[in-house]
Amino acid sequence: MKTNCSIFKRCGGCFYSNESYHQQLLDKTNKIKQLVKKNNLKINVHDIQGSPHETGYRNKVIVAFNQQYQYGLYEESSHRIVPYDTCLLHEPIMDEILKKIQRMLKKYRVSIYDEKRQRGFLRHVLIRRAVQTDQTMVVLVCNENMMKGSKNFCQELVKAFPSIKTIVMNVNKRKTPIVLGQEEKVLYGKGFIVDELCGLQYKISSKSFYQINHDQCVALYQKALSLLNVKGNEVAIDTYCGIGTIGMTLSNQVKQVIGVELNKDAVKDAKNNARMNKIENIHFINADATSFMKDMAKEKQKVDILIMDPPRSGSTKEFIQATNQLQPKQVVYISCDPTTQVRDLLMFKKYGYVTQDMYLYDMFPYTSHVETVVLLSQQKPDDTIEIDLDLDELYATSAELKATYQEIKDYVLKEFGLKVSNLYISQVKRKCGIEVVENYNLPKSENARVPQCSKEKEEAIKAALKYFTMI
Ligand code: SAH
Repeated sequence: MKTNCSIFKRCGGCFYSNESYHQQLLDKTNKIKQLVKKNNLKINVHDIQGSPHETGYRNKVIVAFNQQYQYGLYEESSHRIVPYDTCLLHEPIMDEILKKIQRMLKKYRVSIYDEKRQRGFLRHVLIRRAVQTDQTMVVLVCNENMMKGSKNFCQELVKAFPSIKTIVMNVNKRKTPIVLGQEEKVLYGKGFIVDELCGLQYKISSKSFYQINHDQCVALYQKALSLLNVKGNEVAIDTYCGIGTIGMTLSNQVKQVIGVELNKDAVKDAKNNARMNKIENIHFINADATSFMKDMAKEKQKVDILIMDPPRSGSTKEFIQATNQLQPKQVVYISCDPTTQVRDLLMFKKYGYVTQDMYLYDMFPYTSHVETVVLLSQQKPDDTIEIDLDLDELYATSAELKATYQEIKDYVLKEFGLKVSNLYISQVKRKCGIEVVENYNLPKSENARVPQCSKEKEEAIKAALKYFTMI
């Protein structure tokens, strides 16, 4: 699909405009394949997984209005508004709500904030959608803390769009490019909306961090967690955890999860969300992920699984060093910037943490961004590979291991009153097609006479092998 967006160049939100979606996906995959190759990493880069929704995938929009009541996004690196009618990336209902608000602002004579003169009422409008539950939040960012006629304004807006469950007035009186201020007043509803993600519920307030493309986020999380080999008794750390969505999704499969996040508000949300979902084996720590990892390493804590999902700048050398000290068996690294991820993977490699596969997810069609995920595990060149098989698997793999030689001897003695040697047992095993380690129990000298098992003893040993279901 070609977008033919008239403000493509000025807006700067999109990177692709005339390329088909298929072409965008090819381009993104190729770029990452080249990046990995250039860095001499032997990783199989899988073709990117396209977004379930090519357009209209964004669940959040922030616009500003100009004095002519036109709304739009800011021109790239300037403070000039680029007015638009509909944006390809937004869920369409959000632009419909904006059009309604535009008409209502004139009707209710709401003035628009003038940056230069620092006068006027409305600064921004923020809309967030919980797509899974069809709930909408509208935030009016204002230069004052009183809105005349707000009750009627809200009533009219909610009547037109019943999915609006809350309307919040955010007060920002400062001269700042930061959109949201500290003070908030709930004009309608509870002040938050609730969405569902991977079977859990999340409260979203005006400032909460929440993934932009819901359905693709589900696909990414599912992939990330499916890479793990989980038994149930693991301690997992979810670093750079935001509002704790990944750790909470994993929590019912492991013993304990610790979420680590720098943003205080996100940690507050994470704690509330855990409570709301009645998850008791997770707790959250408000800290810098690197400091946290260093402390864990100093205290020699036990960590089995490490999840990391850092911001675009990637992780740090110290974080990776601490990981090496902690020695988690499995590290899942999700990234929103392949360049910094590759830098970090090179560092991990120095400590013997390697990955075979990289999976790509297109979280933001039409933009240049890509999310990637890898599973890293420790594999020093001279390491023997530990294979964790449970007993059932062992039995299925090798009948040889079912009963020991001693058990067979004991059985034969008890049932037939015969004494048999290891040599005889291995001779019969061989005859029955059960693999016996080469030359096991054979005399060292080549031409030594090898005693042969009698018919009677052979039958007794076969009975034992049958008894132990080895033949
Ligand atoms: N894993 C979450 C959030 C990923 S975004 C999710 O899937 O939704 C990256 C997160 O890292 C943000 O929440 C950001 O606040 C947090 N962050 C950034 N720098 C950090 C640091 N130094 N230590 C801990 N968290 C950090």
